[in-house]
Amino acid sequence: MYTDLLFYIDGQWTAGCSGNTATVINPSTGETIGQLPLASNADLDTALAAAGRGFETWSNTSAYDRSAILRRAAALVRERHARMAECMTLDQGKPLAESTLEAKSAADHIEWYAEEGRRAYGRIVPSRNAAVRQLVVREPVGPVAAFTPWNFPINQAVRKIAGALAAGCSIIIKAPEEAPGAVIELVRCFHDAGLPEGVLNLVFGVPAHVSDYLIKSPIIRKVSFTGSTAIGRQLGALAAAHLKLTTMELGGHAPFIVCEDANVEAAAALACVLKFRNAGQVCAAPSRFYVHDAVFEPFARRFAELAAQLKVGDGFDPASQMGPLANARRLMMVQELVADARELGATLLTGGQRMGDKGNFFQPTVLTDLPEQARLLNEEPFGPVAPLLRFSDLDSVIAQANSLEYGLAAFAFTRSLKTATELGNRLQAGMVSINHFGLALPETPFGGIKSSGHGSEGGTEGLDAYLTTKFISQVGI
Ligand code: NAD
Repeated sequence: MYTDLLFYIDGQWTAGCSGNTATVINPSTGETIGQLPLASNADLDTALAAAGRGFETWSNTSAYDRSAILRRAAALVRERHARMAECMTLDQGKPLAESTLEAKSAADHIEWYAEEGRRAYGRIVPSRNAAVRQLVVREPVGPVAAFTPWNFPINQAVRKIAGALAAGCSIIIKAPEEAPGAVIELVRCFHDAGLPEGVLNLVFGVPAHVSDYLIKSPIIRKVSFTGSTAIGRQLGALAAAHLKLTTMELGGHAPFIVCEDANVEAAAALACVLKFRNAGQVCAAPSRFYVHDAVFEPFARRFAELAAQLKVGDGFDPASQMGPLANARRLMMVQELVADARELGATLLTGGQRMGDKGNFFQPTVLTDLPEQARLLNEEPFGPVAPLLRFSDLDSVIAQANSLEYGLAAFAFTRSLKTATELGNRLQAGMVSINHFGLALPETPFGGIKSSGHGSEGGTEGLDAYLTTKFISQVGI
């Protein structure tokens, strides 16, 4: 059921030349499912040279022809989504229904960029002399180095691949070593769609080594990273030293504000879906729940009830609504955060325990009565743990919501247009979603502010990320 674990370099599938491998584990069972090759410097040099040549070819291919290849890739993704989803559930653990949705939506992302790439318009600036033409043109920035994480293996990769390719860039992507299968299947779709050699290259390796080597290379002109704030800082500093453009999609700690006038039932139901989707390993997941005193009891009761009802199990079991954590590191971290909160006097409304001793399963967990210094309220939890807090006035809850260094997503429930407008204006986040979940569509920008990073993926901004501006002034002689 799994896939051949290989790099894709210069249009060829290869195990590279290092001979080093990493073990890929099924997080539901703890069993080894494959050995992934890790890139040597020689492999990276081959990928860099290929990306350099690929850029020459692809940037000189018309936007119309690029679009046609991207659309073919999207069609193949749609055709093969089931295979990609299986690989993802096997090595990442999420329920098959979630994997399927992610795989299918990859086709939407590619199609969006296929169309948007044809609209990378420039402009003509009126000149001071009638004989002079002043043109502003948009050009692909150059070969891109991209680094994507294990929580949404397809989604994180496809946004970077499709954005870069639509703009006319070539790309080397280092996908997650812990969940490589679905990205390999995704790249196969681009290969089979007829993408020229060298335009897209996929490698795996020791992350710190690969990123250091690629970012320092003069061939690379742009760096796009999705992952933790700590690693984003390191890669951002390295990119700055070499004056490379960056897009940074980093950690978050999203507030979810339930106002006095909210539809409590709808808020609790959505909170449960958003918090426990992908076992909470979502950068934009709500992770601090601020609930007005007037509705705290009914919200807490309903939310905890829904969380306790979730069926946790192997992602291939159709009954499973939540899978395991993707790796043992996450399981340990979630256990630590819950233990810290409990030591500080938090009350457990549901969950709180590891499940079984095989795989990385942890119960959907809801806590309340946490003191401000609890780690859970300050560190990105990235797991199925929800802290509930009370508030009594809007100003103080907005101040609390904005008090962390993060600024990725924010959520709120209110029936008042005035309150909704105020929250939309005053919450410090790259994305605010009110009374529903409306984030992460191909046509809308996805990205954070403050320590959650900079730049957007999706929307017209997602294409801009891979374009530079050139000004041409000409006069006929
Ligand atoms: P981590 O910080 O070690 O790694 C995060 C991701 O970055 C992984 O995919 C990893 O392979 C990659 N990475 C690590 N060091 C790198 C380097 N020097 N160069 C290039 N890539 C590198 O943490 P982790 O234990 O894998 O994940 C946990 C934390 O990561 C979470 O707390 C969360 O904040 C963050 N994370 C964020 C996202 C996101 O969508 N923004 C996704 C996954 C993980």
